[in-house]
This record gives sequence, structure tokens and C-alpha cells, in this order.
Amino acid sequence: MDGRKKQARKATDKCATEPGRETVVEVIRATSGDQSDGSAGNADSGSGKAGEDRKEHGEHLRQYKHDWYIADKLAHPEKYKESYNRRRGRIIDYVRGWKKLNPEKIQEYNRRKLDKEKESRKIVSLVKAKELEENKDEIDRNRKENSKVIKRRYYANNKEKVKIGNRAWRLKNPDKTRAIILRYQHKKKSCPVNDLTADEERFIFDIYGNKCYYCGEKSDLTLDHIQAISKNGIHSMTNIVPACRSCNSKKGNKPPKIPVQPLLKFDCVPFKKG
Ligand SMILES: [Zn+2]
Repeated sequence: MDGRKKQARKATDKCATEPGRETVVEVIRATSGDQSDGSAGNADSGSGKAGEDRKEHGEHLRQYKHDWYIADKLAHPEKYKESYNRRRGRIIDYVRGWKKLNPEKIQEYNRRKLDKEKESRKIVSLVKAKELEENKDEIDRNRKENSKVIKRRYYANNKEKVKIGNRAWRLKNPDKTRAIILRYQHKKKSCPVNDLTADEERFIFDIYGNKCYYCGEKSDLTLDHIQAISKNGIHSMTNIVPACRSCNSKKGNKPPKIPVQPLLKFDCVPFKKG
């Protein structure tokens, strides 16, 4: 009993000399009644008090032992490594045997581990979603800028290939090409809205019966802006009716002579992207 106490005291003192360990040792000494000042009154032979002390401070002692072990392991890694290597085979056999004997504990451990992982994954995805929501504008902007940079770089490296591809696309899609050119031309004229697509153009011609809105002529149809572009009109579905070339040029940039019912925004909904 006496020898064991001496050993414990020695371990405590050794630990106390290591930096950062003083506090733990103080706590243990205070809680376990281990007075270093020599007043060894606590070491009474009656097992009653010692047993109570052990019960009361068992948790502290366990923590202390664990802390000491970790500190020692960090201080002398080669000692522990050598010790492990020496007993490796036995340790592995023991663990295997324990696992065989306690399948339900392994199951429980795996289940808890899985739950924990699920929970942490959930938290991560929530945090990510929140971040995405908060930085949505910035992310969108970055994405657009990045895609522009990527496109520009690709074009710089593959000019001829891109040109051939574009020419082929234009030949295959004359309507869309015309719509793009018109949008570009109106954009240059500082037209406030430029969003008429080839599909919308076809829709306008269909809905007005493929004839001139003013005279009923069925050939040589063009797009007439009800409010002229030069008078702040927009290049969009709600400001366009089909007109023959003659009526269109006669009208010029003046308002129409007969009342015109343009398409409502509601009619255009199916053609708007997003
Ligand atoms: Zn006409």
C-alpha cells in the first residue's frame, strides 16, 4: 500500500515538472486529499475514509491518469511505438476476439457512428445552403464572369473552329440568326428592352393570321413597332404587329392611324425564359 502511494506521488511530481501540467496536478492533489506538505493525516489506516475518497474523486483520478498517459505518450512516442510493435500480434488477436464476442456492441457503435455522420452531413448541407443563399448574387456574378473568361479563352485558342461552327449554326437557323441581328441592331440604338426571339416572332405572325395588321396583305411581311424605336419604343412582343413593307414604311415613326391592340404580357408568358 505504502509503495503504491509512493509511486503515485512520484508520478504526480514528475507530471508537475512538465509545462502546462501544474494545474491538473493541483486539482488532483486538492481533490484527492494528497497534501504534499507532509501532513499525511489523510492516510489513515481505516479503509472507510480512503474508500469514500476514492468514490468521491474517482472521476478526477481517472481523468488524471488519462491525462498523464496522453502527456507521456506525446513526450515519448518512440517508447509507445516500440511497445506497440512488440505486442502488435497479441493486440490484434485480442481486438478480433473481443469483436467476435461482442457483435451487438459493434453494431451499436456502427449505428451511432452512422447517425453522427448523417447529422454532421445534414449540418454541413444546411450551412452550405445558407451560404449559397446569402452569397447568391455574388456566386451568380462570379459564374457569369468565369463562363465569359472560359469562352474568351476557348475562342482565342480555337478561332477557326469556332468560326466554322458559328457559320454552320447560322445556316441551320436563319430565323434565330435574324432575331439575334435585330436585337443587336436595336441594342446599338439604345433601345430600352431587346428581347424578341425567333419563336416569339413566329407566334406574333400566327396570332395575327399571317397578314398585315393594317391592310390585310399576306406577302412581304415585316415587323412593325407600334411605338417606333426612335420614339422610345421597345423591341419586344408587346410592341410589335406584322405589317407589309408598304404599310410599315408609310407609317414610319408616327403612331398608327388605326387603333392597335398589342399582345399583352400574359400572352407572352410561354416564350419568356426562366
Ligand atoms: Zn399593309
